[in-house]
Amino acid sequence: MNLQKPIKEAGTIYKTYSKRLEKLGINVFEDFLYHIPFRYEDYSIISKISHVQRGEIVTIQGTVVDIKNEFTKNWKRLQKAKIQDETGPIDVVWFNQPFLVNVIHKGDRISLSGKIDWYLHKLVMQSPVYEIINNYPTIHPAPPWCGIHTGRLVPVYPETRGVSSKWLRRQIYNIIEHNKQNLLEYLPYSIINDNSLLEIKESIEQIHFPNTLEHANKSRQRLAFDELLLLQLRAMQRRFEWEKNLIGHPFSISKFKKNIQKFWENLPFILTNAQKRAVKEIFADLAGNKPMNRLLEGDVGSGKTVVSAIAMYLAHLNGYQSVFMAPTEILAQQHFNTISNLLSPFGVKVGLATGSKKLQISNVKSQINTNNQKSKQTKNWKLEIGNWKFDILVGTHAVLSKTIQFENLGLVVIDEQQRFGVEQRALIRKKGKSPHLLTMTATPIPRTVALTLYGDLSLSVLDELPKGRQNIKTWLVPPEKRTSAYAWIKKQIGETKSQVFIICPFIEESESMQTVKAANKEFEYLKNNAFNNLRVGLLHGKQKAKDKEEILNQFREGKIDILVATPIVEVGIDIPNATIIVIEASERFGLSQLHQLRGRVGRGNKKSYCLLFTESKSQQSIQRLKAMGTMSVGAELAELDLKLRGHGELYGTMQHGASSLKIASFSDFALIEKAKKTAEKIFPKLSNFPLLLEKLKTITVKNVSPD
Ligand code: ADP
Ligand code: MG
Repeated sequence: MNLQKPIKEAGTIYKTYSKRLEKLGINVFEDFLYHIPFRYEDYSIISKISHVQRGEIVTIQGTVVDIKNEFTKNWKRLQKAKIQDETGPIDVVWFNQPFLVNVIHKGDRISLSGKIDWYLHKLVMQSPVYEIINNYPTIHPAPPWCGIHTGRLVPVYPETRGVSSKWLRRQIYNIIEHNKQNLLEYLPYSIINDNSLLEIKESIEQIHFPNTLEHANKSRQRLAFDELLLLQLRAMQRRFEWEKNLIGHPFSISKFKKNIQKFWENLPFILTNAQKRAVKEIFADLAGNKPMNRLLEGDVGSGKTVVSAIAMYLAHLNGYQSVFMAPTEILAQQHFNTISNLLSPFGVKVGLATGSKKLQISNVKSQINTNNQKSKQTKNWKLEIGNWKFDILVGTHAVLSKTIQFENLGLVVIDEQQRFGVEQRALIRKKGKSPHLLTMTATPIPRTVALTLYGDLSLSVLDELPKGRQNIKTWLVPPEKRTSAYAWIKKQIGETKSQVFIICPFIEESESMQTVKAANKEFEYLKNNAFNNLRVGLLHGKQKAKDKEEILNQFREGKIDILVATPIVEVGIDIPNATIIVIEASERFGLSQLHQLRGRVGRGNKKSYCLLFTESKSQQSIQRLKAMGTMSVGAELAELDLKLRGHGELYGTMQHGASSLKIASFSDFALIEKAKKTAEKIFPKLSNFPLLLEKLKTITVKNVSPD
């Protein structure tokens, strides 16, 4: 049997099942083998009938003496049977399974697993799982029969409508039986020995039909290790292939040492060591013969923008254009300002393109051909773009528009890259001839996880915040303290001219009308009640770009005291005078998100506060939220969330369409690390292991570099 054969094409019974199986992620026959039980029913105690005891869960094996349908007093159907072995008989009862009398016949040899109950002064086995074993030798003494559904540790699988564990068990059992000779060991024995792993054939057999739980665990370890190892090897392979076919644009650094130096000196602050290290890593890539493909990961406020600006400046010095893509208009606008401020003094022309905006070009302070700049009239940017010669274009996904063309795109920067789909990231790169790529994220993905997920990327981490950043005092506010919290906020605004964000509950991933309505309501309520003599503003994603910008500008200029907002402010907004953030229904957010939101304050030098409102009584929620008070490093919070809530959420916010794990867990850092080390060790020698190469062909890594 070809294990790679799609089930769709297998004909007969599988045809009707293939759609359902797809839901379980079973597309080809091999997927059955990797459909892993999430627990086992322990039916391994096989008992003689006369030995069974009340309350026990056991397996008995014997001959069917009698079986019939009966009705209970209230007309429910009941199936009664009598089973006997050499030690005596026992009654068996099932409820409402009338078909059983057509399946189980008098005289059949049968194996039954289930609970022994006490009913009408007799021992009765209730609703057991059954398995007919007629072709098993009846000569005594025969060894106890070890079945698939009874008489052993029985695997229980993730199911879906119309696909039961029992059905899956039968399929998987048959596939294993028929493919024993195909389950060849593909890992080098040195790896198996070094990591004390089971062999693959044994692991597959034992994960489904284990002799003992110990065996099941060992098998799981092997399969989890393989999953991580293969994923990483595949990513490395893809990266190797990808790089092989690309011609890079090596940037010169030495030629522009002086310019870089000047830029450096002109900064209003000193770069942190982490920033310096990242710049160094990025420069090394940019100077290389292969296009850069690097992820810059850094906690909220760690200063990623300036790092990317230096890279874009180097591109410019080398005669290349750059594009900087951000997920929202608000952010694009903000980055446009920041980057223009940083780079216009050095003669770099920065443009802004957003969906609803006309193209803007920043003031260029040094002397370049300014013919176009002088005419301040704003024509439709679609027409205008062709004439503008910009060095850096900042924008939303509007920069992907066909009407925007680059003469000479050398560097692509994607901010908050997890917000973009793989397709968008691929599209932007196609605007140039294999440009360098720098992606940035504040999603604090633990390094080990990043290395697995983004095995095809290089990684720079800003693990240090600029000096002078203050810890943000974080409180959990239960409902009964809401009023006094409002009073405290009022006082703060009065005394220290604080500005406040109030974040409405997170309702859906993308901002829906429901979210907007909630924000509207909150806004009206606060404006007219708790904060009736203060200036309250409202910001949400469904507002027009112009209105958003207007509101944000007012907030920035201190004309608004309290900004009620949907979680769209989560990413990137930089308003140094805002010092208090209130988060409603905070238990609905992941810790990483809360951390991002909290990062909206504490950006200046004033003491800042984060108030987590919650009405939740759940101990676990409270525990999670309390961690916000004691932990201030994004990566640590993410790790904690991983442990408390599983990888689902972190993972969900990380990446559209990223590879997911079936067996291993993102929180198993030690295993990830081990797999990584192993992958690095064998990658250069892969060609010596043809079976492993073959196996790798079956692995899909979704999150590899586009192309
Ligand atoms: P993020 O990494 O979250 O995108 P930003 O790039 O927006 O962070 O930077 C946050 C703020 O920190 C900005 O106001 C920026 O000017 C400032 N900043 C960046 N680097 C430093 C530094 N080394 N020292 C002081 N302030 C810095
Ligand atoms: Mg940022």
